[in-house]
Amino acid sequence: MRVLMVAPPGAGKGTQGALIAAHFGIPHIATGELLRDHVARQTAVGQAVQTYLDRGELVPDRIVLDMVREEMIAAKAAGGGYVLDGIPRNMEQARAAYQIGRELGMTADVALHLQADDAELTRRLLARAALEHRSDDTAQVIAQRLALYREVTSPIIAWYRDRGILVSVDAMRSAQEVGREILVALEAMRPFLEHAPADERVPLDLTGLGEAFGATGSAAGISE
Ligand code: ADP
Repeated sequence: MRVLMVAPPGAGKGTQGALIAAHFGIPHIATGELLRDHVARQTAVGQAVQTYLDRGELVPDRIVLDMVREEMIAAKAAGGGYVLDGIPRNMEQARAAYQIGRELGMTADVALHLQADDAELTRRLLARAALEHRSDDTAQVIAQRLALYREVTSPIIAWYRDRGILVSVDAMRSAQEVGREILVALEAMRPFLEHAPADERVPLDLTGLGEAFGATGSAAGISE
């Protein structure tokens, strides 16, 4: 299973990425985590990126792509699956990630898009700020990160829809409900991924499921 996630800050990429990784036994490659780890260890990369992280700006593509290439090579050695969390964040990174995937024979099967609105995302990030102490979880930097997502990151979603690998999920529900829907969708796709050529795939939009089944807070129509 090879998944990349496109989602605004606070939508739950970290939580759902960890869930998918554990479920399929594949590495979770989270660029934000890797960068924060460099900052904490005060490596050369850490010193170069700290200001970008503190301000909620994107660090230069080259730094992130070098890091991700290394992680993808390790993922290949570990069996070939992966969950990419935090990349791509712009069109250049989307093309570069695809290129790295092509070179390694492991392009993404699924682009998982988590949808949530800015009011809910801001609420979640401010709540998290009280628990963790991330330098970028302040009201001002949160607004900057959300604006950057809407302007620079979200346009790449159309590219994945055109490639037929987009799966959109409504992330305005509990982490447990969203996680269950993601795993059900990925499990349902698994047999096709193993057999269908990449150019025969169609995009999957699950965001209307909850409403269609009249679900209010349950697992959006997925019965147990
Ligand atoms: P969030 O999605 O909540 O903003 P992340 O942990 O994914 O959290 O990212 C935190 C910060 O790390 C970003 O604001 C940015 O500065 C940097 N970053 C992470 N991934 C990338 C990337 N692919 N390209 C550029 N900068 C990145």
